[in-house]
Amino acid sequence: MHRLALVLTVLLGALSSACAWAEAPASAPVAPPEIVESRIAANCYNVHDGVRSIDTVVVHYASAIYWFDPSFQRILGDEGRAYAESIGLTRENLAQHKYDWQLVKPIFEAYKVSAHYIIARDGTIVRLVPDNDRAWHAGQSTMPTDGRQGVNNFSIGIELMSSHPKDDPTVVTPQDAYTEAQYASLTRLIAMFCEKHPITAVVGHDEIAPGRKTDPGPLFQWGRVRTPDYRPLACVESASE
Ligand SMILES: [Zn+2]
Repeated sequence: MHRLALVLTVLLGALSSACAWAEAPASAPVAPPEIVESRIAANCYNVHDGVRSIDTVVVHYASAIYWFDPSFQRILGDEGRAYAESIGLTRENLAQHKYDWQLVKPIFEAYKVSAHYIIARDGTIVRLVPDNDRAWHAGQSTMPTDGRQGVNNFSIGIELMSSHPKDDPTVVTPQDAYTEAQYASLTRLIAMFCEKHPITAVVGHDEIAPGRKTDPGPLFQWGRVRTPDYRPLACVESASE
């Protein structure tokens, strides 16, 4: 009964006002996030037979700021080209579209890489690869916690639509880099993983491939998603309920 009352309180709170939501008890159950399914091309990840052991989440960023680079345009597929045309993409309006996940997906397909999820600026979560399959997001990589290599094997990769100050001069503050909605969706996703997998670490691509990778970069606020020893806050909190 107590649990039911709690759920009703949360639902009513969410309906009446955002403030009521904020006042909901800290241990209120978090509803699983809504996820848009948009499977990436089959030659961008490995299908995994059997149950894959997953204990790590890798955080990345991606954007379409280099869309018009000739080296990319040469390998861009028809689908991506058609999508860009459909939104009237030009060099002049690229800045307005640089965080459109539907431009980033064809970039991944052109380079034959992938991640399991993309989180758009408004918090929309898109699934490109099923959790149990092995996405190609980490590359040559080593865990800072225990030295394991080949992080793709045991991780889920999440791309937040964002950029790095050195690539994009409009990204200056932490708020420019990542939105509140993105942190909220990331937290809900990680909480969802914790229900299914013993997640022990959340790491950045720049931490598992230092010197080679710069994402999610210096403006990502790690304190919002993990403890100082890499453990996901969403899982620590649900474990202590
Ligand atoms: Zn990355």
